[in-house]
Amino acid sequence: MYWEKFSHKKIKEIVFQALKNNLDYRTEDVLGLPATYLDPEVFYQDAPFLNDAPYMQTMVANPNHIGCHTLGEAEPAFLGTQAIERELIDLCASQIFSAEPESYDGYVASGGTEANIESLWVHRNLFIRKYEARLDEIGVVYSQDTHYSIPKGVNLLGLKSIILSVDDDNRSIQFEEMKLAVTNAKTQGVKYFILIMNMSTTMFGSVDDVNQAMEVMNALEAEYCIHVDGAYGGFIYPFTRTEISLTFQNPKVNSFSLDAHKLVQSPYGTGICLLRKGLIQYALTEEAQYVKGKDYTLVGSRSGANAIAVWMILRTYGSEGWKAKILKLIERTDRLCENLDERRIRYFRNPAMNIVTIKAEDVPDQLAKQFLLVPDTHEGEPQWFKIVVMEHVSQGKIDKFLLAWDDWKQSHSL
Ligand SMILES: *Cc1c(COP(=O)(O)O)cnc(C)c1O
Repeated sequence: MYWEKFSHKKIKEIVFQALKNNLDYRTEDVLGLPATYLDPEVFYQDAPFLNDAPYMQTMVANPNHIGCHTLGEAEPAFLGTQAIERELIDLCASQIFSAEPESYDGYVASGGTEANIESLWVHRNLFIRKYEARLDEIGVVYSQDTHYSIPKGVNLLGLKSIILSVDDDNRSIQFEEMKLAVTNAKTQGVKYFILIMNMSTTMFGSVDDVNQAMEVMNALEAEYCIHVDGAYGGFIYPFTRTEISLTFQNPKVNSFSLDAHKLVQSPYGTGICLLRKGLIQYALTEEAQYVKGKDYTLVGSRSGANAIAVWMILRTYGSEGWKAKILKLIERTDRLCENLDERRIRYFRNPAMNIVTIKAEDVPDQLAKQFLLVPDTHEGEPQWFKIVVMEHVSQGKIDKFLLAWDDWKQSHSL
């Protein structure tokens, strides 16, 4: 895995050049596009700081990245910034997920939710067109710790859910039960399966064991393909572990979701959808006649500035800098876990991830509230509270939490 780190100067040059290669609503005769720059009364274009701020400059110019730009034909008005989006998709697919050159498509989606639904949509249509599957013959298999965007997509697309239970302590899929659940679905007429593998769940940071899951599916001779939900961990896990079966090198893996607006700290609206080449065609909307290149995405119009933001962040760090940043978070998480161990506070933690999920019994509610720990449920008694060690979760704040816990413990053992 390698991508080069660029200086601020170089980033500025590339983005400003890209904006020059886009259509400029100020100087060109544009009569037909129902789009333009941001309102100049409010977002005035001669604000001096814009000369040094490529992302803000792109926001003000307001390019629309409607459609998918890894396919060739696209809206000619925004070719400059579309090329940067293409480079971003390439970087994620080939460097982070080991895709061969030109073997993928993708786009910057509104978030992990959209990227997950796009992938379900693509696979649903693939099974319908390729095998003439009926809706009730298509099942989506996922663990109980899976993000709610998957059942949301299952509901929207009229598919069937096959939910796998996990071990209460180590959060791994119970594979014996998985056999039964899939067998059961087959006897009920499900013939095609979309297997969701979490490259970290949101609540626990647990990563599904793809090899064991594939063994179950293969043993049952199920027709299936895999979508990897990396919305939480896609920018973390590949930097802390090398796992070939969770990359495009695994022929069963067809797609990935990523969220740059979580750990990458980019603006909201920066999910990334990656699909193996040849699949996004199943999400083509033929009726998108007024869009040059048509539309293969779920969202429609979307801000080109979002792609610029993510690209700028990844280029500012380079792959080595990114890895160092992630390792720093992991070390801080290690230290937190040592401190929890000393206090015999029980928790789940995947050593490759920066989430620590503490048994609710071991943290008083008032502390959970004070430090905004996230409960596994807002209805009824929570079983778990999680701490996500990211940029703002400093050692000082962690120490403060631990001291508050010590105070509580002392006042309760008296
Ligand atoms: C956050 C998250 C999503 C959904 O992402 P949004 O950006 O909120 O749409 C999907 N899957 C996982 C694992 C997530 O952590």
